[in-house]
Amino acid sequence: MVSQRREKGTGITPETVEDIVRFHGHMCPGLAMGIRAAEVALREVGPHSSDEEVVTLTETDMCGVDAIQYLTGCTFGKGNLIHLDYGKNAYTFVRRSDGKAVRISTRPGAFDRSPKHNELSTKVRNDSATEEERARYKELRANRTEAILQAPVEELYAVEELESVEIPPMSRLHDSVACAECGEPTMQTRISRLEGKGLCPACFEAALSRHGSVEST
Ligand SMILES: [Zn+2]
Ligand SMILES: [Zn+2]
Repeated sequence: MVSQRREKGTGITPETVEDIVRFHGHMCPGLAMGIRAAEVALREVGPHSSDEEVVTLTETDMCGVDAIQYLTGCTFGKGNLIHLDYGKNAYTFVRRSDGKAVRISTRPGAFDRSPKHNELSTKVRNDSATEEERARYKELRANRTEAILQAPVEELYAVEELESVEIPPMSRLHDSVACAECGEPTMQTRISRLEGKGLCPACFEAALSRHGSVEST
């Protein structure tokens, strides 16, 4: 379970951790990484965003992002969670009111698994692990998750204050228009014109590929 020390230090109570696990579906090392990164964001940049007070640029789309969304209020749906597909467990948090921005990045080696853990992980993935190995793997994974939750956050992440970050504009609402092909209401800015018809992205793609196949035959 989560220690008293963390509860006092971060304000993330064991109950909140349980809520995050419910939101994500399971506890895992990736979620723990996200919880710890969110902790830094809440401390350095500001509290949970009910609107778009804070914007997160996430360089990963792994499990941890669910903890970031839950804890910081930077969510995909509100438009203040932006995915940069860099494959790094790193996040930039920007406060709109004064532009304060911090980038939180993994310290090299901070989340490395032991060689045994790696070996068992491969076996489990190939479906070649014995029952015993499976159990051992589960145990190592749970221990790793707990270690991530307990470690001093400075050992896990480097925190760098950024001079200037281009803040994405507030998300805007656009009118929807009906796609000329499928009739589904589609945000105006996503409509493309083809032979005088306004098409949604799916119908536009389909029309283009039909054109392609006509040309190739
Ligand atoms: Zn997960
Ligand atoms: Zn359509």
